[in-house]
Amino acid sequence: MDYYFKRKILHLFFPNRCPVCQELINANDRFCIECTDKLKMYNRNFEISEVKKFFACFDYDDNIKPAIFQLKSGICGNSDYAFGSYLAEVLRNENISTDIIVPVPLSLKSMRKRGYNQSELIAKILSIELNIPVCCAVRKIRETKEQKNLEVDERKSNLKDAFDVINPETVRGKRILLVDDICTTGSTFHEIALVLKRNGAEEIFCASVCKA
Ligand SMILES: [Zn+2]
Repeated sequence: MDYYFKRKILHLFFPNRCPVCQELINANDRFCIECTDKLKMYNRNFEISEVKKFFACFDYDDNIKPAIFQLKSGICGNSDYAFGSYLAEVLRNENISTDIIVPVPLSLKSMRKRGYNQSELIAKILSIELNIPVCCAVRKIRETKEQKNLEVDERKSNLKDAFDVINPETVRGKRILLVDDICTTGSTFHEIALVLKRNGAEEIFCASVCKA
């Protein structure tokens, strides 16, 4: 069944709401009009070493925060759809097409706590919108501290050897789009890009919903 048609049917039983203010919206709307007007689109340049190009939709500020909270809190609601389809639009406008989409993984402990990976939810919507398969090729093999609380030197050592590729065959020679919900310093993207390249990936693009 067509994805958008399925959303319309679902909407009859579980009406779609704006992930920022919870106002009722149409089945295939992303945010309500008022919230859309307040969201600040990302339009800066940010470079990450080992990454061909970085993309984001929104600047991370108080206007978008409730939707990110919803995405991570287990309610999810319409936030994965709203974010995924917005991000797809950004990538389409930039003419970006890759062989696979790889979500930034959570550690096993965080996965157990939350029950799902929010980056994977966004990756799934992107996959439908861009017609590119999702491949959960990377796993997080140890716990790390939150990057935002660390000094520059600590950030590097904090992430070192925290990720690996499950099966190198899935990434060898591939052009990859790495996806996350928020990018702060870019260290996580950099570290995973490094691991992917070491395993033979050809080119890495990175996309996050918000840039802090
Ligand atoms: Zn709203």
